[in-house]
Amino acid sequence: MKITVLSGGVGGARFTRGLLAHLATTRSDRGGGTSAEVTVIANTGDDMWLHGVRICPDLDTLMYTLGGGVHEDQGWGRAGESRRTSSELSHYDVDSEWFTLGDLDLATHLARTGLLRSGQTLSQVTERLCRRWEPGVRLLPMTDQEVETHVVVDAAAGGTRLLHFEEWWVRHRAALPARAFVQVGLESASAAPGVVAALLDADVVVLPPSNPVVSIGTILAVPGIWEALVATAAPVVGISPIVGGAAVRGMADACLRAIGVETSAAAVARHYGRREAGGVLDAWLIDTVDADAAAGLRSDGWRVGVAPTLMTDVPATAEIAARALKLVVTGHPA
Ligand code: GDP
Ligand code: CA
Repeated sequence: MKITVLSGGVGGARFTRGLLAHLATTRSDRGGGTSAEVTVIANTGDDMWLHGVRICPDLDTLMYTLGGGVHEDQGWGRAGESRRTSSELSHYDVDSEWFTLGDLDLATHLARTGLLRSGQTLSQVTERLCRRWEPGVRLLPMTDQEVETHVVVDAAAGGTRLLHFEEWWVRHRAALPARAFVQVGLESASAAPGVVAALLDADVVVLPPSNPVVSIGTILAVPGIWEALVATAAPVVGISPIVGGAAVRGMADACLRAIGVETSAAAVARHYGRREAGGVLDAWLIDTVDADAAAGLRSDGWRVGVAPTLMTDVPATAEIAARALKLVVTGHPA
């Protein structure tokens, strides 16, 4: 079975780790008879240049989480790293104290930047970095071009100004009201090699509980990706990133507010839309605390599953992945 996942950072990475754990159990249950190939298409809209190095937060969170090197409590960055370089940089007053670069993480950025400078594409560089991390999936950036999400906020002097998504998210903790999100560079971007094929050739496509606006929304905005999701014969299943009217981790509610979508499991489903009605989803898994929302969605034609969706640990997350697959794959064990 070929499974393709569209992913942001922490939410998508944790989900994919659970998906792999689930697939490993179904394999052993069946005496090694089934094999699944997982492709992850990662958001690169959060990428930025800082101190001359290229930082790809979501790709790195995926690599570290799936490769066993993530700082587990934080959800991103490397386990056991120090911040000596970051703290040293802060003494130079180069306006970057708000973004922490761990010392081990920094090595990834240096390696990536060197390879990019030597002429390799981000896809090639990602493949190279993954040789070390062996994430157990094929990890693809959504695009090889630089597409960076910027946020439109009010300017002190009136009017509006743009700031990089990471500056809005990390430095300002998403507290400046966002008027809109803009993907700078999108017009001249195309899906990275293998991305459209991974959607068209999939047996199942999964939208994990990632930020629907600045993670999955950004991936869907890359020319060709939405069209591939509409065209693929594979069913598309999503897991709600909103539980009980709140984003479980982070500030996704601030992103949803900016695009006029209520912070609820049902509103996010309707935002993605049903494929039959011009959207991208065939089925939607919501948390048991949101069970009341199921009836309304079902009466509008949605295929809805209800299950615990808090990714508290790997076994719980494997169960979420199983429930999501069961919604769209006939006979899939859950
Ligand atoms: P980011 O790039 O690091 O922000 O990560 P993602 O975009 O992949 O995912 C972030 C989103 O995951 C958050 O906005 C939450 O809505 C969602 N999320 C995080 N943890 C959980 C969880 O345990 N369960 C569910 N259902 N959603 C979660
Ligand atoms: Ca991200």
